[in-house]
Amino acid sequence: MMKARGIALNLILMGLPGAGKGTQAEKINEIYNIPHISTGDMFRLAIKEGTELGKKAKEYMDQGALVPDEVTIGIVKERLSKDDCKEGFMLDGFPRTIAQAEALQDILRDLNEDIDYVINVEVPEEKLVERLTGRRVCPTCGTTYHLVYNPPKEAGICDKDGSELIQRDDDKPETVKKRLSVNIEQAQPLLDFYKEKGYLVTVNGDQDINDVFHDIQSKIEK
Ligand SMILES: [Zn+2]
Repeated sequence: MMKARGIALNLILMGLPGAGKGTQAEKINEIYNIPHISTGDMFRLAIKEGTELGKKAKEYMDQGALVPDEVTIGIVKERLSKDDCKEGFMLDGFPRTIAQAEALQDILRDLNEDIDYVINVEVPEEKLVERLTGRRVCPTCGTTYHLVYNPPKEAGICDKDGSELIQRDDDKPETVKKRLSVNIEQAQPLLDFYKEKGYLVTVNGDQDINDVFHDIQSKIEK
């Protein structure tokens, strides 16, 4: 059954780089009209609004240091307490650790809320490598292409300005594989944590974008 208006739909989105989490977040936002809360946006907002925690976070960031958990968690709490989260929210990029996940449980309990679903967009690792290493960028205009999914009309050449496309260092196989393994290591304990608590729903991200979204819908409207 679809959730009635006025009842919050509280989601956490998970997925490895290249899994298409951002695209699904946009679609969820369009249909369910709940704010997409990424960690980066949350920090930028707190800093812009000049909250105490925002100021603290900025100090660490200006020094190139990691923002400590207590500050991050405080900012999450501020963000989730805002009016636009009353009918739900979708967290993206938080939590990253079990400690943060436990802190989130406390925050939500204080707000009289709970997580409804943790949606994991799952794509086999070799597919992710293919997706991520296939990216090519135009150094002139910044347009992004993909060798398989979005190729330029002429191989290696930008459609818009004829520049020769390049592969970013970040998109080279060794870097991509390293990044994925770091992410897998970080995500696994969280997936286990949420699975054990019964929040986890896994959708197959290795299919058409609309089919992925359809799977998400069918799971959260059950
Ligand atoms: Zn170009």
